[in-house]
Amino acid sequence: MTVSSEKQSMNQEYSLCMPKDFERSRNLLQQVYEKQVVLEYIFTRGITAYGGIRVNNRGFEKEVSVKYSIDQWKTASVIHAYHSIFYYDSNTNLFQFKLTITIDELLLMLSTKDSTSSILPMSISFAICYAVHEHKFWDNNYSRDYILEIEENTEKRSKSILLDDAFRVQIAKDYRAISHGSAQAGIVCGLKNLGGTCFMNSVLQSLLFTSPLTSYFLLNEDTKNISVSNEIIVNEYLNLIYLLFCKKYAVIIPVPFKQIIGHMQDIYFENQQQDAHEFLLFLLDYLHEDLIRIKSTPIIVDLFHGTYKSTTTCLDCEHFSVNFETFVCLTLPIPLTSQCTLEDCLQHLNEDEYLADDSRWFCSECQRLCNGKKRLEIYKLPKILIIQLKRFQLNHEFNWIKNDTLVLYPVDNLCLQQSCPSASSQQALYTLYSVINHQGSLNDGHYTTFCRDNEQLQWFECDDEKIKYCNSDKLDSNSNAYLLFYIMKNAT
Ligand SMILES: [Zn+2]
Repeated sequence: MTVSSEKQSMNQEYSLCMPKDFERSRNLLQQVYEKQVVLEYIFTRGITAYGGIRVNNRGFEKEVSVKYSIDQWKTASVIHAYHSIFYYDSNTNLFQFKLTITIDELLLMLSTKDSTSSILPMSISFAICYAVHEHKFWDNNYSRDYILEIEENTEKRSKSILLDDAFRVQIAKDYRAISHGSAQAGIVCGLKNLGGTCFMNSVLQSLLFTSPLTSYFLLNEDTKNISVSNEIIVNEYLNLIYLLFCKKYAVIIPVPFKQIIGHMQDIYFENQQQDAHEFLLFLLDYLHEDLIRIKSTPIIVDLFHGTYKSTTTCLDCEHFSVNFETFVCLTLPIPLTSQCTLEDCLQHLNEDEYLADDSRWFCSECQRLCNGKKRLEIYKLPKILIIQLKRFQLNHEFNWIKNDTLVLYPVDNLCLQQSCPSASSQQALYTLYSVINHQGSLNDGHYTTFCRDNEQLQWFECDDEKIKYCNSDKLDSNSNAYLLFYIMKNAT
């Protein structure tokens, strides 16, 4: 049997954690028919333990499943869980798992345990399924006894990455932060691709360079006591911001963040490519919910929310009605030409849409369905304007196709006054600070990001963990641009 150094990290700072016994160097590498499996890491957040298994042999194909059970302190029921994981990316053969002990089960555990002890023995068994040329076999040889130690930790709530040094060290461990020293542009920290997760990395990189939001987290007194709590995205986001901006690390591996979002939404559990735009909306939504709940602060709304005003006019009687609707992202269709400007795309926003036939509109004046026209304009501009260029659309055969039209966008002085007549010319001016690019086809694409550092006014090209300086002329004719991030010039 081959022996390799153990790769594990765990989080001891949380209320429920693995004991010292587990921390001891222990080799979990197993050999099965010359296939090597290593239990890569386990860490806990609250009462959920996360882990990953790395399979070091690529001799088998397509499917690896992980089955596990927790035998809690002998007498109670066994939790059987099963997650079948398919991997799409041959670069990383990491399969993630999640063991959740529900609050009810935890309470039961606490009530039956010896009152003098805060230790719960538990046995976790893993079974790994290999598929070789479509023949599957299960290997059950991965059982271990763990001891869960419950800390009677009352100071837990005061732990914040902005205040607690020991906690920072722990978080850096969880993220397996690689210290600075390797060639990386400026002070920017790269994010390792976990296999198809460039959609997540690109969105994180753009958001982290959204200076009013990042300043809010790092400079605001209010955020210093955003503390460790169960699976709160904002807490993990703050950990990420700290690691990326503390100027100590060149690369981090965003597994803890990925696992938290995978817990919140199933589609993010596995490592596979997703749409960056959808993920951006998901993340802003959860950040907003968390910040409202913990801090009652509407900062996400203040920064990112704009308002549309749509006016529908009856073509028979000229009666009109006005509706207001919030937007987080301005989605613009791209004309089918080889090249156009962002202003061309914006013009379509204000074009009258005629409502006829099946889309006729109920006029409250005529009291019947009437032909109408609908006009959309922006009523309130957001401080941070995110524009999605609608590159992906269904064709007549209902297949998704990508539009590669070169859209020329201004880096400085994007003026939106035409789309938002109620704004003053001062308010309507925007500066670009980030672009998310999508290269390749829909199914086989890759996301990268251009980001501008607000202090150095320097552009960077972020390609997952690789960060390079780049000249702004690289932004000028960029047919891969998918999401554009602008900041209002006179945002107060
Ligand atoms: Zn009418």
